[in-house]
Formats: sequence, structure tokens, C-alpha cells
Amino acid sequence: MLPYGRQTIEDDDLAAVAAALRSDFLTTGPLVEEFEKQFAAASGAAHAVACNSGTAALHLAAMGSRLGPGDTAIVPTLTFLASANAIRMTGAEVFFADVDPDSGLLTEATFEEAIAAAEKYRRAIKAAVPVHLNGRICDMRSLANIAKKHGIALTEDACHALGVPSVGANEYSDFACFSTHPVKAIATGEGGVVTTNDKAAAQRMRKLRSHGMVHAAEELQQRDEGFENGEKRPWYYEMPEIGWNYRMPDILCALGISQLKKVDRFIKRREEIARLYDRLLAPLAPALKPAPRGNDPHGLHLYAVLIDFEQLGTTRSKFMNALRAANIGTQVHYFPVHRQPYYRDRYGERTLPGADAYYSRCLSIPLYPSMTDEDVSFVASTLSKLCGKEI
Ligand SMILES: *Cc1c(COP(=O)(O)O)cnc(C)c1O
Repeated sequence: MLPYGRQTIEDDDLAAVAAALRSDFLTTGPLVEEFEKQFAAASGAAHAVACNSGTAALHLAAMGSRLGPGDTAIVPTLTFLASANAIRMTGAEVFFADVDPDSGLLTEATFEEAIAAAEKYRRAIKAAVPVHLNGRICDMRSLANIAKKHGIALTEDACHALGVPSVGANEYSDFACFSTHPVKAIATGEGGVVTTNDKAAAQRMRKLRSHGMVHAAEELQQRDEGFENGEKRPWYYEMPEIGWNYRMPDILCALGISQLKKVDRFIKRREEIARLYDRLLAPLAPALKPAPRGNDPHGLHLYAVLIDFEQLGTTRSKFMNALRAANIGTQVHYFPVHRQPYYRDRYGERTLPGADAYYSRCLSIPLYPSMTDEDVSFVASTLSKLCGKEI
């Protein structure tokens, strides 16, 4: 079976995890800081905060943006649930933006349209979460210009864009959030990272990922509880605000450190595969076309194709089932989040035609570093047959 994505775990990754298991620390130990240091260096940000999922990263960033009840954040509807849910987890409301029908990305036009539409609902927007869908990077400079005019804080959902040069440096955003789930660029099982250049926000997110606890003498508010004869009581800790257990274990940081060394090689192989697909699938246009990737660096997290199922006289379900029968796994990224029952109930019906147009045509086909060229040819020739062509 060729899945649409999968991890690449090698012998040195296994050795790194085994060494961590033999060490004194299974959870918070020295490898957390080491992973954060290396992640920050690789992304170009001043700080990286590790946590135990991309969703936790998005939630910590939303807390870092001081979102809470009464606030509203813009999220493009063509994304994974977590981009929106992380906003709701703070008590803030989501206002869904439309996306470009071909790239699936939040654009200047759809961002401005969403801000204007939100005004009609009398909702001032405090934050927005551009999503680098499939690994294609949103035009952050333009989005940041718009955000600045309206006093909107930006968090990049970069879960599809780990390893892309400049993503995570936060030149145009306050936070960038990454996931190390097995289908993403590198794998730690579960895992996530927030990057930022805001030192105070990084320190606060580190507290929030561990129950909101503080230990240091200078951070304690209740001197009568925490001190005895002018000295800090050794057991005493305080919780000035509520947090979670979002800690990333040392075992997984060991895997993260090992995997991080490989991200350039992994992306290069993804690029080779994508170029091979481009060439092999070209004859299937216009019924089947790769989603446009633009000219900027691309994370190639997913290889998405846009298919005119009607023209092919089929449906996406039949098409996917036929691929599955040939042992080819595919997935739809994504069903627009504003059409989920929870959000429909909460915010009512909205029509976002760009997202609908993208959703109705998209399909992610297998793309991961350990695929062979033969695997790629097999997927391409199976797609060709389904499109009524032989290549
Ligand atoms: C994977 C993903 C997430 C969530 O990451 P987890 O590590 O699975 O919690 C959020 N947003 C996008 C776009 C993702 O692809």
C-alpha cells in the first residue's frame, strides 16, 4: 500500500531514541532545550518552544497572542480542524476566510474580504492564522501589510511547511506553528513547535505548556507562602495563570533532533518526486492538473492534484476507491472547516466559493521521501488509466 504520506525513520533515529531511553530523563530533560535550540537555529527565529502536537503549538500561539473570550481571529476555511479549534480553545471566536480556488491559500483579496465581512458582523479582528497549505507559502509580506493596517496579529500555521527556508523566522508574523506528526516533514510521533522572536511570549508559552507553573523566587507572588526567613521554600511553586500539560518528552526530542538533520534531504527527495509527477501527469490536463505551486520555495508536504471529476464521468469517491483497489492511498485536504457541524451550529451558514471550488476538485496523492521512482510511475500510470489515457 502506498499511503499519501508517511514518516522516514532510519537506524540513527532508532539509536537516538534508544540512547534517550537509557538516560535519566524520559520527559523534560536536556534534550528539550537542545531540540528547541536546533529548531530555532534551523528556522532563523530567536526562540522555539517545543510542545506535544501542532495543535498544542497553535493553542500556545493563540494564548501568546492574548486571545480570549470576546476576541475574534480570522482562519482560512480550507485547513485542518486544529487551525480553527486552537482559537476556540482560548474562548475567542473564529471568522472564516475564503481562499484562492486554485492554490487553496489565504490571499490579500480573501483576507481583505474577510476583514470587511467581519465588520458587517461588528466583529473587530485581533488575530489571523494564514495556513501554508500543502507546503506552499502564503504571501506573508502582503498579508502582514494588511494586518498592520488593522492591528491584526499574525500566526502562521506552518504545519505543512517545516523546513522551508524563511518559514519560522517570523519576519512577517508573531508566531509560526509546526507539527512533527508522522505525515509531516519530520516525525516524532506526536509533537509540535512554536517559533517566535518575542522573548517574553516564548517564556510565557513555556510556562503554559507545563500547567502555568512557576518555580523561580523572583516570579512568586505570595511571599508569605513561598519564603521562610527570607529564603525560598524548596518545594514551593505557584500558578499565576492556568496552563496545560503540553510537554514534549525527551524521548521524542531525541527523535526530533535526529530527524531535523535530515529535513533538507527529505525535502529534496520530495522535490524530485514532485517533478517526476509533474512530467508524468502533464498529458492528463486539463481533466487532472497539479495544484499550482508558484515559484517560491515550497515545502512539498502534499502533492495535491485538482481533478474535474464530472468531465471524467465519475465521482471522487469512485475515483478514490479505484485507487485504493490498486493499493494507492489518497486523501482530501480539506473539507472546508466552516461546513463542519460544530461551526455551522455556532456561526450559521456562510458561502465561501473559493474554498468550495478547491475542495470539490482536490486530491492528495502519495508523496514521501522513501517512495521510489517506480512507485511514482505506478501512481501516475494508474491515474492515467482512470483518466482514460495510457502513458
Ligand atoms: C497537522 C496539522 C495540524 C495539527 O498538527 P497535530 O500535530 O496533528 O496536532 C494543524 N494544522 C495543519 C494545517 C496541519 O496539517
